Amino acid sequence: MRRPLVAGNWKMNGTRSSVAELTQGLVRQVLPESVDIAVFPSFIHVDLVRSALAGARVSVGAQDCAQESEAGALTGEVSSGQLYELGCEWVLVGHSERRLIVGEDDGVVSRKFAAALAGGLKPVLCLGETLEQRRSGKTLDVVLGQLCRVIEDHGVSVFNNAVIAYEPVWAIGSGLTATPEEAQEVHAAIRRCLANEDAAVAEITRLLYGGSVKAENAAELFAMADIDGGLVGGASLKADEFGAICRAAGN
Ligand code: PEP
Repeated sequence: MRRPLVAGNWKMNGTRSSVAELTQGLVRQVLPESVDIAVFPSFIHVDLVRSALAGARVSVGAQDCAQESEAGALTGEVSSGQLYELGCEWVLVGHSERRLIVGEDDGVVSRKFAAALAGGLKPVLCLGETLEQRRSGKTLDVVLGQLCRVIEDHGVSVFNNAVIAYEPVWAIGSGLTATPEEAQEVHAAIRRCLANEDAAVAEITRLLYGGSVKAENAAELFAMADIDGGLVGGASLKADEFGAICRAAGN
């Protein structure tokens, strides 16, 4: 039985005071014991959020890390080791905003994935197709291609310590959500792809759905056989709504 995980990606949002308010709102939530919960603030707020959530059973992750895990000459980057020292448990890797806006390709994503593990973090590998790719029937080719690059480079056993998030690009921040059936179809294909390499790894790897998850649609998405929780953007910036999504994962 896989334990659900609900992760909140706060993206490039928040000031010190709004982030403090959000964490206070989270601390007030009744959160289900049966669900793992994590939030991903900006680098500059990680320390503040860690302190504010100490004892709240909500772990903290970062939204990105450097391709190198070792300290060194890489101006402007933050290593997984530095994030681990700050108390991060997780890091997002390959979010579509980094793939499409910053220009990270599968090779960069794969190196960041390995660097995350080397520094002691658990990567959340984000996969997803654009609307154009979906409309031209390429969804599974794209998503499984992104996954295969990591498996080819590092072996499937890395998923003993990682999570996968399927996030159709067209559903991120758009208000459009994949139907539970559309999401399940891709999740099942991801699990089959893992199972072709190692059935035990496929069985334990948590697959999150992301893309306009809200309190009102979370329960039906999380009810699908291969959806083990959610990666939540906009709705994670409202403590009450995020709390409701976490409770939906516990039902
Ligand atoms: C995300 O950025 O990972 C995300 C899923 O965003 P939203 O929930 O706002 O679509």
